[in-house]
Amino acid sequence: MRVAVISDIHANLHALEAVLAAIQGTRPDAVWCLGDVVGYGPQPSSCCSLTEQHASIGLVGNHDLSALGELELDDFAPEAAEAARWTAGVLTSSDRAYLEGLEPSAITEHAALYHGSPREPVWEYVLGPEAAIAALEDSPLPLVLVGHTHVAMAISLDETLEGGLAPEGTEIDLGSAARWLLNPGSVGQPRDGDPRAAWLLLDLDRGRAEFKRCDYPIERTQQEIHDAGLPEGLATRLAEGM
Ligand code: ZN
Repeated sequence: MRVAVISDIHANLHALEAVLAAIQGTRPDAVWCLGDVVGYGPQPSSCCSLTEQHASIGLVGNHDLSALGELELDDFAPEAAEAARWTAGVLTSSDRAYLEGLEPSAITEHAALYHGSPREPVWEYVLGPEAAIAALEDSPLPLVLVGHTHVAMAISLDETLEGGLAPEGTEIDLGSAARWLLNPGSVGQPRDGDPRAAWLLLDLDRGRAEFKRCDYPIERTQQEIHDAGLPEGLATRLAEGM
């Protein structure tokens, strides 16, 4: 079984369309989305429809929940809170119904999926070694997929913890360690210094994982952020990948 894994789309339609086109070129058996379909970006409705159409498994993220009014905005940075309020105002009833039907975690035959982490599926950022060890040890399955940080990573645990950032072209042999934690990075708002849209291709029969990036017209999303009256900082950071 081959699976394309996407996460943190953040209402960036042009990034999502570019990633879906690249995914279709690899003809996977399934697409899994690790959450945060909306928030920050200017096209929440189109991103909900496309994700619902393409992802056989979808998780809900903290930005999705806040747009639904199910999370307080106190823990959000001011730009994120402003975007969450804007998003709540433009979601359609079918977007809401889609997002309301999602959970922040899922267990499949092959992998455990979380927006954040096993111990805090909505909120925890798995970036450092302590969080990575906890996530790998708490997971019921040896392959753990997380999103939320917007940083593509591949971390393994055997005797020791190994790995870290997973730039484009990183290929992993999942048989080379007992446990793996993979983060595909973000489709719509990468924060690992590479502004291109990120995704991950898994070949679960061969035990392989490959980190992918694809170009998209960043300036079109920036113009839409501007036209929507969303904070300009959300547009400028897209070009920086931070
Ligand atoms: Zn996110």
